[in-house]
Amino acid sequence: MTANTTKITPHFTIGELIASSTATRLHLANIPTPEALRRLLGTAEMLERVRSTLDAPVIITSGYRGPALNRAVGGVTSSDHMSGQAADIIAPRFGTPYQIAKTLAPLVSVLGIGQLILEGVKGKQWVHVSTRIPEKPSNRVITITDAGAQLGIQVLS
Ligand SMILES: [Zn+2]
Repeated sequence: MTANTTKITPHFTIGELIASSTATRLHLANIPTPEALRRLLGTAEMLERVRSTLDAPVIITSGYRGPALNRAVGGVTSSDHMSGQAADIIAPRFGTPYQIAKTLAPLVSVLGIGQLILEGVKGKQWVHVSTRIPEKPSNRVITITDAGAQLGIQVLS
């Protein structure tokens, strides 16, 4: 078993990809399955490419979500977070989540980002990146707010 503080890629540890304040609060182990662990490695490799594109540290606010954690946060059961294929990120030293998403959007194929979502409400946004390409190509780069999903990266009014 790899220690959670061991780097699995040059800048990311397994601990960063499985940490969750909700899991800690609810005493959920949130231990990835071997299959999820393998996919988390692919996610970390994609995050390395994102990090070098932004040339700034990338902070993972949510990565792997086991079934119990996913239920606790009200995530959809088809979530790429559950399979270890997604991470929610911010990079304050680069810019706002909107600026991050705008920068990454034209590069999704190059960077191996399957899906890019600018998510949240004004003032509390993050960028969701996954390695899985959605079935509907139009869902590849979207903005999700309380009001629903919009195509592309949209600025919130
Ligand atoms: Zn997400």
